[in-house]
Formats: sequence, C-alpha cells, structure tokens
Amino acid sequence: MVRSKLQYCKSCDLYGLGPDCDVCGKVMVTSAPLKYSPEDPQGKRRRERENAGSDEWVESLPSPNEEAER
Ligand SMILES: [Zn+2]
Repeated sequence: MVRSKLQYCKSCDLYGLGPDCDVCGKVMVTSAPLKYSPEDPQGKRRRERENAGSDEWVESLPSPNEEAER
C-alpha cells in the first residue's frame, strides 16, 4: 500500500495531500508533518504572525481572573 506523503503549499501556507494545491492550484512540495519540539522552532514565526506582545495581543488573551478582580 502506497502511503500518501503530506504536501505543503508555500503560497498558501497550507498542508494537503496534493499533488496540486486545492486553493491556488500550484504544485505542492513534499513535507513532513510538523513535529512537536520543546524548542518550538516555528514559535518565532508564529508569534510574529500573531503580533505577540502588542496591546491587541494582550487583549485577546483569555483572562480567568478578570471577573475576580472586579
Ligand atoms: Zn496554494
């Protein structure tokens, strides 16, 4: 049985089973699924995308103590 390899579209930043991207139709590249890593190599990129540290980002965080402080 042939095992499908996960494909990745750089243009859309999406994973699929290709060979072509469902969204943009471009050829996807073979990619291994993201593995868990305590070093979080994608963390910097993810935080930049979420604009972590900004006021908007702080506001978006869940705050379980919000009710208690009132
Ligand atoms: Zn695409």
